[in-house]
Amino acid sequence: MDERADVMVFDTTLRDGEQMPSVAFSVEEKLAIARKLEELGVDVIEAGFPVSSPEEAKAVELISKELSSTVCAIARVVPTDIRAAIATGAGMVDVFCSTSKIQMSGSMHVKPAEVLEATRTAVAMVKDAGRECMFTPMDATRTETPFLQEVCTVAQEAGADWIGLTDTVGVGTPQRVAAMVKAVAEAVDVPISIHCHDDFGLATANTLAAVEAGARMVQVCVNGLGERAGNAALEEVVMALHCLLGRRTRVRTHKLYETSRLVERLSGVAVAPNKAVVGTNAFTHESGIHAAGMLRDQRTFEPGLMTPEMVGQRRRLVVGKHAGRHGIAQALREAGLSPTEEELTEIVQRVRSVAARGKAVLSADLYAIAEGVMQKLPQQKRAIILEQLVVTTGDKITPTATVIAQVSGNRQVEAHTGVGPVDAAFRAIKRMLGPSLELEVREYHVDAVTGGSDATVRVSVSVEDNEGYAASAQSASVDIVMASVDALLTATNHLLRLRANGAGAGEKS
Ligand code: MN
Repeated sequence: MDERADVMVFDTTLRDGEQMPSVAFSVEEKLAIARKLEELGVDVIEAGFPVSSPEEAKAVELISKELSSTVCAIARVVPTDIRAAIATGAGMVDVFCSTSKIQMSGSMHVKPAEVLEATRTAVAMVKDAGRECMFTPMDATRTETPFLQEVCTVAQEAGADWIGLTDTVGVGTPQRVAAMVKAVAEAVDVPISIHCHDDFGLATANTLAAVEAGARMVQVCVNGLGERAGNAALEEVVMALHCLLGRRTRVRTHKLYETSRLVERLSGVAVAPNKAVVGTNAFTHESGIHAAGMLRDQRTFEPGLMTPEMVGQRRRLVVGKHAGRHGIAQALREAGLSPTEEELTEIVQRVRSVAARGKAVLSADLYAIAEGVMQKLPQQKRAIILEQLVVTTGDKITPTATVIAQVSGNRQVEAHTGVGPVDAAFRAIKRMLGPSLELEVREYHVDAVTGGSDATVRVSVSVEDNEGYAASAQSASVDIVMASVDALLTATNHLLRLRANGAGAGEKS
């Protein structure tokens, strides 16, 4: 064992994880995940069940050859399985056998005495081949303690290097799992590895309880993949060991997030947003009070012991429809933006209207919205104020925009067609401003601030008139036409103000 680590990490994403319904990795995918796991720093990679198919055997062989990590192959306590596992070149073989009454009689049709004999033979075969051997009494949590101790003693006598205790059907509780580990540790000196399933959502808790009771190795899957409700999640167990129990593993935790994303992509099993450690919401804050508290001191509403950077994540602030004015103002101040009270009112109103459409407002969206609002003139200094905009567009109709606005205090209605909805709206506004002002749009630029078709877009517009006055502005919205019109009006208001003040031509506002 690495001297810096006091708990070893045995990853079984490629074996138990692949036994998850609908998950199947190709040989190339298995190799890619194995390489990532080695980079992550797990101690043992359980790569597959070689006797199950020639492809599976091939994958285990390739991974054993390519990696310097210890690679484990699983086998039942029968010679054909063990020979297939040894033939792959895997450095460790995990031999398993049912030991609970229900599995011995109902599934394996074996008697306890046969289990003991098969265990002795199997472990000896692995050791004779010069490989590290883990003996796994399957369904250990439902195995009677005296028999569990007896079979583990036999495995020890045959030379087993590890005892892999299993909560195969996920019925353990932290106290029961701890008691099982202690009972086995009383009977044998072989170090114990723990394998827990999440049927009751207790896999991580049970794994930690086993470690506190003396287990030296944890069996885990990335993203908690595995049969039924899955195995204990690697990322949860490792971070809890480090941060809550003060234990050490060799895992380079800052690579947890990227490892999770790779396994998510190759397994096709999406990580829930609220998944601990690697979910996209794991370090995301929405409500106003939380966000405001977070900005003062990140320990207020995060565990504090675990930062997003530690696991390769980043902190996201999401402004929801309940976002507080105070939280938004603080978030903006942190980013170096100091809106006036009037600007803040408009920013808050825009953020809430975006959030009310069901879209999360990320901090990048918030900054873009605020920058757009803060470029505007104060309300009473705006020559043109939009009241309503209606656009129609489609492949068989001419795009048309109807604009209702206050122009120097007079309500006006204007409609125009264009090559697209933005062009139609621009033309309607230009017509509304009258023939004395020949407004030209010199630049028009659109950027998506955040991803997805519901992205916030930032629109930049530069306008110039026939006398050489020029102004430019930006606006951001989830609606590309609204952002375009808003940026045009902001720029136009600046330009009209320059004209009214007779400022030097060509000056930019
Ligand atoms: Mn399992």
